[in-house]
Amino acid sequence: MRIETKAIHIGRSVDPATGAVSLPLHTSTTFQRGADGTFPSGFEYIRDANPTRNAFEAAMASLEGGSAALAFSSGMAAITAVFEGHATGGRIIVPDDMYFGIRSLIDETDIGKRFEFKPVDMRDLDALRVAVTVAPTGLVWIETPSNPLIRIVDIQAACAIAHEGGALAVVDNTWATPVLQRPLELGADAVMHSATKYIGGHSDLMAGVVVVPEGSPLERPLRMIQRHKGSVAAAFDCWLALRGLQTLPIRMRAHCQGAQKIAEALVAHPDVEKVLFPGLHDDPGHGLAQQQMSGYGAMLSFVIRGGAEAAMVVAGRLKLVTRATSLGGTHTLIEHRASVEGPKTMAPAGLLRLSVGLEHPQDIIDDLIQALKGLG
Ligand SMILES: *Cc1c(COP(=O)(O)O)cnc(C)c1O
Repeated sequence: MRIETKAIHIGRSVDPATGAVSLPLHTSTTFQRGADGTFPSGFEYIRDANPTRNAFEAAMASLEGGSAALAFSSGMAAITAVFEGHATGGRIIVPDDMYFGIRSLIDETDIGKRFEFKPVDMRDLDALRVAVTVAPTGLVWIETPSNPLIRIVDIQAACAIAHEGGALAVVDNTWATPVLQRPLELGADAVMHSATKYIGGHSDLMAGVVVVPEGSPLERPLRMIQRHKGSVAAAFDCWLALRGLQTLPIRMRAHCQGAQKIAEALVAHPDVEKVLFPGLHDDPGHGLAQQQMSGYGAMLSFVIRGGAEAAMVVAGRLKLVTRATSLGGTHTLIEHRASVEGPKTMAPAGLLRLSVGLEHPQDIIDDLIQALKGLG
């Protein structure tokens, strides 16, 4: 079965009780025992497992080519579970350019005290090899494309280096989605998603998910964290995520086409100093993205001449592009990352990050061009 078909069918079937084609939303917290005291449905209590979450987990496992998936209440809950669940409890290597929420998790919660974190620019495989071998390492956390510098990391090489050092390799695949990139096929020990983004696709749910391959040492610890620590995905969010998944392959195609056109239009603009997007031929990540992805994604950053002040002016003048955080929905969103992230940011002062939505790309280009007018 191809990915477009899996996205619609896996984990779901026509409801035998009613003939309903669309998966029913089950909200029951508890399930009936049979006369012998067992659970004939296989379900007992909503936190352990439930029909709606199981369907979402089965669909995600299939799309990523894994054997099981575990859905959490948010992407951050899924990340926390992976950090807590990796068996050795040792050092964790993270990218120097990564989703800012992980930096906050490390700086603002006990996670930063319980584990030693080492940031590395993983485009430099030698630097990664040194980091993995210089001290016992439990986990290598990979994010590609990265946030907000849209860097591409060689997943296959980074996973191999992690394994040489006895560490597990986990990939945050939120930005690429299984439509564009499948890390388990490249050697990753698990894939994590913020389903809040492209999986849901409509900016109206929050969930996270981790997909593991057969025999993964992470599966049982993650299952126990999900079940007993209890940060599980809500049934309604799983139902919305399943609804979103059905159009994920065609949405990603349209997202990518729009982003390519917008990136090319921005490159041609005199007030834009730089466009960070792997779909551009001279982007440092272009060749690698071509190898390990089937499309360049729809997240791009561009640096405006004139620094933070000019970037803020442009963001404020936009009429159609929405000035808001997050990504992966139908609406094109823009954000000045340096002011959101504060002093620890990797973002240049003039950088604006764009999540290209599903509007007609020319309408977005027109809006960007009018906002850039007369800057210099
Ligand atoms: C949004 C995001 C997360 C965190 O997910 P939440 O659902 O907001 O908790 C993690 N990684 C990446 C790349 C993200 O974009």
